[in-house]
Amino acid sequence: MIYETNSRNETFELGKKLAQSAGPGDIYCLSGDLGAGKTAFSQGFAEGLGVEEDVTSPTFTILCVYETGRLPLYHFDVYRFEEPEELDDLGADEFLYGDGVCLIEWPEKIRTLLPADVKNIVIRKDIARGEDFRQIETDFDS
Ligand code: ADP
Ligand code: MG
Repeated sequence: MIYETNSRNETFELGKKLAQSAGPGDIYCLSGDLGAGKTAFSQGFAEGLGVEEDVTSPTFTILCVYETGRLPLYHFDVYRFEEPEELDDLGADEFLYGDGVCLIEWPEKIRTLLPADVKNIVIRKDIARGEDFRQIETDFDS
């Protein structure tokens, strides 16, 4: 599916909507350059799952766990990884193969360690369409 948004809030709302169809064990890979809107999408996604806490970017903590929604949410940001194996230090298998929902920013950094059946979301800018335009492509139906 291809979606288009023109504000942070529209991207947030799309995240919220796509979270409705998330199920136990789902892994969502969220790609896009710095400033694309990955955190905005993630915050909406968390709200869509019913997470009550404020969701911040886990750039420094790598992983944030939220357990107040209808399913646990494991929000990863592995931007700072130099090698995929750093994932093992987190005991990430417990999350990747658990009953919660994983949402992973910068999945390309750990692609070799992820299962094949992940759901992919890519956020792209297109400056020709304006500063706030984003094209958001998924490889699944909502
Ligand atoms: P990332 O996590 O990908 O680095 P953020 O979500 O932290 O990106 O930041 C996205 C920035 O772009 C925010 O400042 C947001 O207000 C701005 N923005 C402008 N238009 C959009 C849009 N359509 N979708 C998402 N963010 C947008
Ligand atoms: Mg971010």
